Amino acid sequence: MMYVRPKKSLGQHFLTDINIARDIVDAANISKDDIVVEIGPGNGILTRLLAGRAKKVIAIEIDERLIDKLRDEFGSFNNIEIIAKDALQFPFNEIEGRFKVAANLPYYITTPIIFHLLESRDRIISMTLMMQREVAERIVAAPGGKDYGVLSIAVQFYAEPALNFIVPSSAFFPKPKVESAVVSFRILDKRRVEVLDEGFFFKVVRAAFSQRRKTLRNALRSANLPMITDDALDSAFTKTGIDPKRRGETLSIAEFAKLADTLFCHTSS
Ligand code: SAM
Repeated sequence: MMYVRPKKSLGQHFLTDINIARDIVDAANISKDDIVVEIGPGNGILTRLLAGRAKKVIAIEIDERLIDKLRDEFGSFNNIEIIAKDALQFPFNEIEGRFKVAANLPYYITTPIIFHLLESRDRIISMTLMMQREVAERIVAAPGGKDYGVLSIAVQFYAEPALNFIVPSSAFFPKPKVESAVVSFRILDKRRVEVLDEGFFFKVVRAAFSQRRKTLRNALRSANLPMITDDALDSAFTKTGIDPKRRGETLSIAEFAKLADTLFCHTSS
């Protein structure tokens, strides 16, 4: 493939280590019946390996320079479809059938693309995504540590993420400034916990983390949640048995759900 000058603005750090590419494809657990969606095929290092294992690969690339080259290179493959589009705008729910996602993500869109994909979660079987290590650690974090926050909860609400392995920056050209990690996400059949109102649940979660050093009570008070008085807050702490002096970062998703549901009943009573 001809050389294309990497564009930093498009997060172009191309994988040069074929063994790591193989490890990613192994982690994606692809079989001959699978449709695989790849975000940002770049020069096609993963695309080629994926196509060797899957029924079909749909590769979405934003950079026109790479599109021409990918179409040249994979023109003879009957199971690779190259789509020239911004993955953030791509309607994943219009793909026919359920699919797996595999990608070495452009790191400037890691979080928005994960959220965009999760909107189509009923179509997705699993996702195997390489991203910056720091974001990977936040995604898989458990309650109690500094990495646990809104991102951990937003992902774990719909999926079971696992950090597969760390990738050194020497595996890319040009080298990124940070280490990378491969995370696999199994999409849950239903949300991790049932909540009365998902929007309100996430408002409570965001409020709890908006000032991480405050106690839960103070963080929620100063967030001015709609229609939540101090009395309503105190009564919710009593009802749920959650200590108002705890910090948000110590609450499990189930505890957040209990607290949010109890508060939500106040807003509608
Ligand atoms: N898969 C290749 C590899 O492993 O070497 C390239 C990975 S590189 C980190 C990210 C790729 O995503 C680049 O090819 C870049 O052009 C592409 N990209 C960046 N922004 C994109 C977007 N919004 N939609 C689709 N592709 C994008």
